[in-house]
Amino acid sequence: MVKVSRVAEGSIAAELGLSPGTELHSVNGRALADFLDWEFLSADDEIVVLARDPSGTEMELEISRSDGEPIGVTLEPPNVRRCANRCEFCFIEGLPQGLRRNLYIRDDDYRLSFTYGNFATLSNVKERDIQRILEYRLSPLYVSVHATNWEARKVLLNNPRVPDIVAQLSRLAEGGIQFHCQMVVVPGLNDGAILEESLSDLWNLGDAVISAAVVPVGLTQFSHLYSGRPMGEPDARRLIEQLSPWASKGRRERRTSWVFGSDELYLLAGLSLPDARHYEDFAQIENGIGAVAMLRERVARSVSSLPDLRGSRIGVVTGKAMAALMPELLDRIATRTGAEFDLIVVENSLFGPTITTAGLLVGADIRRALATRDDLTLALIPAETINEDGVFLDDVRFDDLRNELPIPVHPSYDFADALAGEPGLVAA
Ligand code: SF4
Repeated sequence: MVKVSRVAEGSIAAELGLSPGTELHSVNGRALADFLDWEFLSADDEIVVLARDPSGTEMELEISRSDGEPIGVTLEPPNVRRCANRCEFCFIEGLPQGLRRNLYIRDDDYRLSFTYGNFATLSNVKERDIQRILEYRLSPLYVSVHATNWEARKVLLNNPRVPDIVAQLSRLAEGGIQFHCQMVVVPGLNDGAILEESLSDLWNLGDAVISAAVVPVGLTQFSHLYSGRPMGEPDARRLIEQLSPWASKGRRERRTSWVFGSDELYLLAGLSLPDARHYEDFAQIENGIGAVAMLRERVARSVSSLPDLRGSRIGVVTGKAMAALMPELLDRIATRTGAEFDLIVVENSLFGPTITTAGLLVGADIRRALATRDDLTLALIPAETINEDGVFLDDVRFDDLRNELPIPVHPSYDFADALAGEPGLVAA
């Protein structure tokens, strides 16, 4: 059963008298277990839905619609499938105490992998789930492989009951399912020969594996489970060297670089990041693969449309990871606009100094960085630090913070989104 949370005005559902709280039980005789069943089974133009309204009255609804017309219901959020693993490097295990509860949910849900691109290990997938993936053609899936070597994977996921990922992927691949894979690499555990084996196994799955990403283990000061060592510069360099022949092979034989190191890996290695062409369609951008190249590309595309900002002094808040890369971008924008930029590199007070990503800065960090900066005309902060409810990871509300600070503050993804509408800025 799934439950309706909202009914669109004037929609088919509204005409049929559906209301929030209505339970949807089946479509054409097939029981509904979750949003996926509803989405796929209700896709036909002629369907019969068995439902129960909030007063308990059973309803049989015959729905007939023309091609593509939405029925107009939003469902209550699904119960997320919880993770059965206990990876030593789990970022959620490395969160400090006292954050809002939903940040501690360790999801491992193939449905969210298909719908939102969340990575799933498939270690909690049952036969019925495999059947659903195949029937509904849930493709591509985003899969945390980490290692194809079964024994190594058990250690990495800290779970002796994980299924053989090669067997799982092979079976799904035979049914036409494709994957974007990632390997979070722990030095000494799944690098070297284990990584080589993983890349070889994934390559041998042919077109089913669209891309493979290699991401260095990321630890906070609270990663209490982790017993390995952090990844250092030589490890990162070795990994990038190891990926290079695979990327060449990919370009030669499949016209794709196929395997991609994350931005963080290049930064750790102290190597220049590849340009935007390397990342092709940026398939794993949400995984930090090519984010810097995309930012450079967006700045290059938008800089000519920026207004004259002479006389302005603009603060740009970022984390340590981007500190060395920002000046090049800001110089370019300064040349075009005449504005003066002040790069403000902030340490993460919540996760500790090892977390240098700008997007994980919290409200308290930004407050600390800007509270006395009335010398600035305005400040830009990383837009990724704020969720869709306008709240930072430490529960500080952006609106409250903005009201406290002595200067205007704008969340920004690429500078142009915040500066394009700011002609006539003047010095504070
Ligand atoms: S699979 Fe590992 S890293 Fe992912 S949520 Fe589970 S324990 Fe954490």
